[in-house]
Amino acid sequence: MAIRTKGIQRFLASADAQEGLGSAASPHLVESVMGEEKGEPGCSVKQLPGRLLLRAAELASRLNPVNEPVFGRMAAMAEGALLPTPLAAAIVTSKYWGPKPRKLSVSFMETTAPDLRRRIVSHLNAWAQFGCVEFVETSEVGQIRISRDLGGYWSYLGTDVLLIPHRLPTMNLQGFTMSTSDKEFIRVVRHEAGHTLGMPHEHMRRELVNRIDRQKAYDHFLRTQGWTPTTVDQQVLTPLEDASIMGTPPDQDSIMCYQLPGSITVDGKPIRGGVDINASDANFVGKIYPRIGGAPAVRNTRAESDWPESDDVQESDLLIEAA
Ligand SMILES: [Zn+2]
Repeated sequence: MAIRTKGIQRFLASADAQEGLGSAASPHLVESVMGEEKGEPGCSVKQLPGRLLLRAAELASRLNPVNEPVFGRMAAMAEGALLPTPLAAAIVTSKYWGPKPRKLSVSFMETTAPDLRRRIVSHLNAWAQFGCVEFVETSEVGQIRISRDLGGYWSYLGTDVLLIPHRLPTMNLQGFTMSTSDKEFIRVVRHEAGHTLGMPHEHMRRELVNRIDRQKAYDHFLRTQGWTPTTVDQQVLTPLEDASIMGTPPDQDSIMCYQLPGSITVDGKPIRGGVDINASDANFVGKIYPRIGGAPAVRNTRAESDWPESDDVQESDLLIEAA
């Protein structure tokens, strides 16, 4: 319990220190799918069947106690201080793997040439230089199972992959071949790997959702994706719960943020969307998956120059005498 509280406070600390109010964790409120104007497949965070939500939350919390939802001041404001139901708690449970160094095994659903397998795994591992997670190809059934079949780009979120039957993929990279450009490998494979590491869509952050013009979004997604207003509400306009604060300030250049055109924003400016892991992404992964004995690859000086009151050195812990 102490560890859990401490862990959550540490993450709250980093969010508070940067005056960030958004959330990086609330996967199951939405299955976010982003349409692209260029006709590329959008990305969805794949959702488990409803019957598995509680089990998935229990598993996520067992693997990494920090995943348990924070029902703090913001949740209390939003919910009128009502205690959450188990299902509501499950919905805001995040799905990060634990902070211990971890290798995730990777296999391929279809027969895939060695050069393509290597290329995909190398882009999954773009995150490995910043955090203590590594993707390793296996000839057995992998924890991460990649298909290149129809269905667009998607991944299950973090620890949810463990609950997927072994005969099914956990990640889809529709149509990726050796002819696919490096730019697309960087933008899509690294993004999907981010979901596998537990990161939801950055464009569902409240600050970014607030920039979207509701009616224009309805028109745009009806035209490009055939979505009803209800679907647009669910997929685009419902922000991640502030109850689960864990992350960086909202960042439209995050690789976890997809592009949204200026034609649907209130200010007419596009939400740019990330094209690669940026400094903020790298810093965040370095915090949730800390590398042993090494400083984060990207130092966050703002976070280091301030901390929440709960981290203030207590009277009993003052190091008055040298050890
Ligand atoms: Zn995505």
